Amino acid sequence: MAAQNGASPHATIAPLAPAADQVFATVGEPLFRAVRAGGYRKIVLQVPAGLVRNAHDLAARLRNETGAVTLVLARACFGACDLPSPDEAPGAEAAVVLGHAPIPNVASPLPTFFVEMRDPGGDPERLAQIVKDAGLPRSLGLVASIQHLDLVPPFVAALSRHGIAGVTAPGDRRLMYPAQALGCNYTTAESVASQVDAFLFLGTGRFHPLGLAFAVDRPVYALDPLRGELEPPIDRGSIVRRRQLLVASCRDARRWGLLVSNFVGQDRTAMARALQAKAAAHGREAELLVFGRLDPNDLLGRDLDAYVCTACPRIALDDSELYPKPVLTAPEFLMALGELPLEPYRFDTYH
Ligand code: SF4
Repeated sequence: MAAQNGASPHATIAPLAPAADQVFATVGEPLFRAVRAGGYRKIVLQVPAGLVRNAHDLAARLRNETGAVTLVLARACFGACDLPSPDEAPGAEAAVVLGHAPIPNVASPLPTFFVEMRDPGGDPERLAQIVKDAGLPRSLGLVASIQHLDLVPPFVAALSRHGIAGVTAPGDRRLMYPAQALGCNYTTAESVASQVDAFLFLGTGRFHPLGLAFAVDRPVYALDPLRGELEPPIDRGSIVRRRQLLVASCRDARRWGLLVSNFVGQDRTAMARALQAKAAAHGREAELLVFGRLDPNDLLGRDLDAYVCTACPRIALDDSELYPKPVLTAPEFLMALGELPLEPYRFDTYH
């Protein structure tokens, strides 16, 4: 079980990560002390795109405070699904991963220090007033990015004082905390969708509101906790219709590529094999293609009609237009084969 270091008071699910993994709220002395205590001589630092600017200052701090040789992993990373491997950082004895919580059912390739970069900012009372003044429904499912999860309990209390029910729930084995949002898994929302009139995402950017809109058939609002800006709901009908049109355009595709990732938390080879069997049962050909980080250029020049991405579902949903041929999610592929109806639309929840 990953050890908790004060950052994770709401954890309810026992992670399967190695015992050496530890979780921290921010970069600071508790992290440095733990790395020193491990006696690691060489570590690899992984930072998400939003923190790249600070990566080298952070690496210098780690180096100075721990005495460990510190390598910065340069490739883009998107989640705790693509943790640094020993092959990528030869000789590294541990990893420090910023901006992500562990995914409980993904085992880390190296002893890993997760630094969730929690941000305690945001005034719950002011935010609840904003929600009330905007006339949002009185029953709201709440989901937050990892950085803002600590705001959820006081925000629920503040909403309640305004007569608004803020509903939260734990997710499945891929989510560490109740109310946590992961781009491939919104089970914290799906499990309460029938009890609420809308969802409210606490965080920034469109990535999670968009994913939530695919996953739950409810209006999805987004509230930036630091700026206090409330975004109107995403037009779910239009984004779902676009996907359904793409699915319909693939109904006659004969030759499929089934994309399989070798990242530790994106490898759904078993699912790809099952889809390959389905394709054969419907008289289609389907080839498994293995990759780490998918590059649209890798799909150029292939004699294939369409693809199914069994890795991160957001590759198909968010980046579809970058690829030379249609890229569907697994449920969309089953829709294209006629095994599932187009309605209700099914999000490719990664369990
Ligand atoms: S699979 Fe995709 S959405 Fe899920 S954690 Fe990884 S990068 Fe994020």
